[in-house]
Amino acid sequence: MKGASLGFYGGVDEVTGANFLLRTGGANLVIDCGLSHGKFFDNYRPFYDTETSEESFSPEALFGYRPTSIDAVFITHAHIDHIGRLPRLVREGFSGPVYSTPATKELSRLMLIDALGIMTEEARRRGLEPLYAREDIARTMSLWQTKDYHRTWPIGDGVSARFLDAGHILGSAMVEFSRAARKIVFTGDLGNSPAPLLPETEKISGAHYLVMESVYGDRNHEDRAERRRRLAEAIADTAARKGTLLIPSFALQRTQILILEIHRIFTAGEAPSMPVYLDSPLAAAVTEIFYKYRHLFNARVRAEMAGGEKIFDYPHFVEVKTPEESYRLSRKKGPKIIMASSGMSVGGRVLAHERVLLERKKTIFLFVGYQARGTLGRLIQDGRKKLRIDGRRVRVKAEIRTLRGYSAHKDRDNLFRFVADAADTLEEVFVVMGEPESSASLAKKIRDGLSLSVRTCRRGEIVEIDF
Ligand SMILES: [Zn+2]
Repeated sequence: MKGASLGFYGGVDEVTGANFLLRTGGANLVIDCGLSHGKFFDNYRPFYDTETSEESFSPEALFGYRPTSIDAVFITHAHIDHIGRLPRLVREGFSGPVYSTPATKELSRLMLIDALGIMTEEARRRGLEPLYAREDIARTMSLWQTKDYHRTWPIGDGVSARFLDAGHILGSAMVEFSRAARKIVFTGDLGNSPAPLLPETEKISGAHYLVMESVYGDRNHEDRAERRRRLAEAIADTAARKGTLLIPSFALQRTQILILEIHRIFTAGEAPSMPVYLDSPLAAAVTEIFYKYRHLFNARVRAEMAGGEKIFDYPHFVEVKTPEESYRLSRKKGPKIIMASSGMSVGGRVLAHERVLLERKKTIFLFVGYQARGTLGRLIQDGRKKLRIDGRRVRVKAEIRTLRGYSAHKDRDNLFRFVADAADTLEEVFVVMGEPESSASLAKKIRDGLSLSVRTCRRGEIVEIDF
C-alpha cells in the first residue's frame, strides 16, 4: 500500500536505544523505546540538532516524532535499551496500548523500577531531572497488554501482529506485522542458540522486510565448551588459593545462567564445590519470574524442572538479603563465589565488594558480559590499577579475567544463517542495533553472500516501503 514507511529513531549506529516507527499510512506503530547506555546525555537531547534550549524543547524534538501521534507500542524484550524511555513517551502524551509477551511485561516492571533508581543517582550527579518518575512507570504498566507467542491479533488499518520467540532472554520476541500478502519482521535481539535456558530462535518465513540487530555483526563467539572450561578453571583456582571469585553479573538472565552452570560444574566434579552467594535483590526477583514462566524454557531445562525442581537453588547456594549480610560477606574467610550486580559496576551492591576484594591478591575478578566505555567495569577490565570507588581509593591487586562466551546474542555466522533461512522472500534487510563497523560488516556479508538488498540506516532516516 502507498504511504507506508519505516523510521529509524534509535538503535542506529549504536547497540542501545532501539526505537523504530512503522507508519502504515493509517497507523503509527513504535517498536521498542529504549534507553541509550553509552551517552547518557543523548537521552535528554532534542532528537534533531536544534538551537532549542533543553528546558523548552517539545516532546516531538525529544523523540523525533510526536508521542501523541503513536497508536501502539510493541516491546520485543525487557532489556533497558529496549524499554528504558517508554515511561517518558507516556509522560509526553502517548496513551495507546503497549504490547509484549506476558513474561516481558513482568520483567519490564522490575527493570524499569531498578533503572529509575540508577538513573536518579546519575541524573542528580549531572544536575538533571530523571527522565521520568515512579508514577510514569505505573501509568505505563496500566497501558500494557500481553499477547502469547504465535497469537495473531488485529491492530487496525488492515494490519495484524504476532510475536515469535527470539530466544534471547525470557519472554523475548520478534514482532511480525502482516497486511494482505505483505510482511515485515523486527527481530529485537536474537538469542545465541542453542542457549542454556531458552529454546532456539524461531525461523521466520514469508517476510519481505527484515529489521535486524547486529551487535556481534563482525565477530564470532568463544566456543561453548571453552567458556564452561574456563569458568570451572576460575572456580578451581579460587579453591586452591582459598580466595573469592567475584562476578559482577547482569541481573536479568546472565545471573540465572551462571547459577545453573556453576551447579552443573559442581555436579560433574569439574571444580570443587564452595558456597555461591547471590547478592542482588533484583536478580532474586527476576529468578522468581523465571520459575513462574518455566514453560518457556527449552526441553532440557523443562525436564530438569518437571518435578517442581528449583533449579536456581541448591545446597551451596545462598541468597544474600539484607545490606548487613552483604557487608559481612566480602570479609568472610574461605573460598567462595559472589555474584552481585550491577553487571557493569555502575551501581548496586557489587561496588562495596569491589572496594574490599579488588585489593586482595587472592581474589579472581571475573567479567562475564560486555562492559560499556565509561563504566567502572570497563576501567577494571582494561587493567586500571588505581581506582576510586564510592569516594574511596582502591589499589587493584586481584586477578582480572574475562569470559566472552556467555553472550545472549547471535554471533556473525549465526546472524547470517538466520537471514539466509528467510532469504527467498526478502526484498530488503535493514541492519541496525550495532556499532557502525559491526552493522557495516554484517550488511556486507549478507549482500555478498545472499545477493540481497541491505541497508545500514542513519539516525532519523525514513524509508518508504511497500507494505
Ligand atoms: Zn537485549
